[in-house]
Amino acid sequence: MKVKNKKTKPKYNVFQNIWFMISLAWRQKEKKVIFTMVLLVLLGVSLNLINLYIAPTILNAIETKVSFSELIITILVFITALTLTNALNSYVNSNVLYGRISVRTEIISMLNNKCCRTSYPNTEDETFNKLTAQASEYCSSNNKATEAIWDTLTKLLTNILCFAFYSSLLLMVKPFMVVIILVTTLIGFFINNYLSEYKYKHKEIEAEEIKKLNYIDKVSSSIQYAKDIRIFGLYSWLTELYDKSMAALHAFNNKVESVYLWAQIADLVLAFLKNAIAYTYLIGLVINGKITVSEFLLYFQAVEGFTLLVTTIMKKLNTLKRQSMDISVVREAIDYKEVFKFAEGKSLEIEPNKDYIIELKNVSFKYPGKDKNVLTNINLTIKPKEKIAVVGLNGAGKTTLVKLICGYYDPTEGEILLNGVDIRTYNREHYYKLFSAVFANFSLLAGSIITNVAQSDNNINYELVYSSIEKAGLKEKIESLPRKYESNLNREVYEDATNLSGGEMQRLMLARALYKDAPIIVLDEPTSALDPIAEADIYNKYNELTKHKASVFISHRLASTRFCDRILFIADEKIVEEGTHEKLLALGGKYAQLFEVQSKYYREGESKDEK
Ligand code: ADP
Repeated sequence: MKVKNKKTKPKYNVFQNIWFMISLAWRQKEKKVIFTMVLLVLLGVSLNLINLYIAPTILNAIETKVSFSELIITILVFITALTLTNALNSYVNSNVLYGRISVRTEIISMLNNKCCRTSYPNTEDETFNKLTAQASEYCSSNNKATEAIWDTLTKLLTNILCFAFYSSLLLMVKPFMVVIILVTTLIGFFINNYLSEYKYKHKEIEAEEIKKLNYIDKVSSSIQYAKDIRIFGLYSWLTELYDKSMAALHAFNNKVESVYLWAQIADLVLAFLKNAIAYTYLIGLVINGKITVSEFLLYFQAVEGFTLLVTTIMKKLNTLKRQSMDISVVREAIDYKEVFKFAEGKSLEIEPNKDYIIELKNVSFKYPGKDKNVLTNINLTIKPKEKIAVVGLNGAGKTTLVKLICGYYDPTEGEILLNGVDIRTYNREHYYKLFSAVFANFSLLAGSIITNVAQSDNNINYELVYSSIEKAGLKEKIESLPRKYESNLNREVYEDATNLSGGEMQRLMLARALYKDAPIIVLDEPTSALDPIAEADIYNKYNELTKHKASVFISHRLASTRFCDRILFIADEKIVEEGTHEKLLALGGKYAQLFEVQSKYYREGESKDEK
């Protein structure tokens, strides 16, 4: 069932978003962003007023026949003021960039932090992924909302202050003129306002395509996909997908532009109306001798300026509204609801030598949006130092079980207890300290072998790194490399990166798990990429290395589970068989059947090799 996103209103309004940006700049010690904005507003207003008064004042001086020197002084004062204000304005403008960028990059790091630390289920939540894709788009350059809003606010405030001044000036001539201009512009504003919501209301369409484009970008440049792209000729599929998404994005943007065009047409018609009325009235006043020529010039300029001010205010208000919507999206991503407790949860000190018991009580689990449970009513206790193997067919739910134990998901029903306490009460980041893990899909950091083992660049215990690598059986290989432990990994970043084989990579992951030295080790089909000899060797290593720790081991090769104290066979959402390897063979059930199939395959494999 597809869940419709009915929400069209942004969660935060314009004032809340302006306040968010200002308080962020303040907290980030980028107060100069605010001060320069105020300074630019004052300079902008001064410039505008000097420009307004320069010609009428000079004309008035000529009209009233002031002395030549007085005239020259008047002109000089205006020109000097104009030059100085302009110069100062340019200087301040050229210095605002750094502070504004720094506020934007702070938002980017807040977003990155959210993505890295959010509850694991959020990483698979479509709404969250769409929001974060859009949010990073809105932080991606100088002209995006999270930086451009400063410029909008500066221009808006400048224009509003000038507007106040011009209004009082025009009210002195004829209040009705101000009313006419205001009414026509307000109508224009509301039309604009209504149409400008279009993009936000349809943001889902844009997000969908951006997500696809990001995916294509990632796949096209990823080493992981490079082989498949070549051998299966995936480039034409990728290009087609890219073209389709770009076409959809273009169509969407064209639609948005055409909607905005209507707003602009309405603007033009209304501006024409108000100018016609105001100018006719002013010309009438001059003809009837009610105002002097210099006054006419002042009011004429004021009307022209007033129209421009109101139009600019309208446009800037719309820009501000759109930018505020974008900032709202960014904030919605940053504030996205957490499933787990973090700082507000109880803290948990994990000590390497303490005994930890994990107990699953009547645990059922269903993936969000799915109708069927993956696991139903599971009861399982993992005792300190116990070695548990989890086996079963593909898709039986082994990884899901391990993910529940590790705290990546919370059960849909039932509870998981750590030494008798529901793990949901703890800070989840503390709970993760309980585990070291080797997953089939591992992540490789762009950094040295040392960084990859320590998973950090700070406070590294080098002796522990070397001994973990040695225990994992990787010492010889690494010491044969020109840069030894400093060798870089990850070709995506380092050209000179070392390519480790599948088996070596598994050993590296094992070294990483050993370095963490957590009380419980989780191994999820870590040998799937290995040849039988490396595999057997790794199994022996696991056996030896997990001796003093509890471990949960998912394996597709049943013989490898011999060293475990207990084997759980998962099928039909349940633990259907449980016991040692020998006990389960003697039982003659599903485990025994699967073992028979596998050993037959191996026997055949061996006899073929012998031939
Ligand atoms: P196993 O490890 O035994 O192969 P898994 O635990 O990976 O099985 O998967 C169990 C079932 O849950 C499968 O049907 C799989 O398609 C489904 N599944 C796994 N991960 C997800 C997920 N993130 N979202 C939805 N369904 C999933």
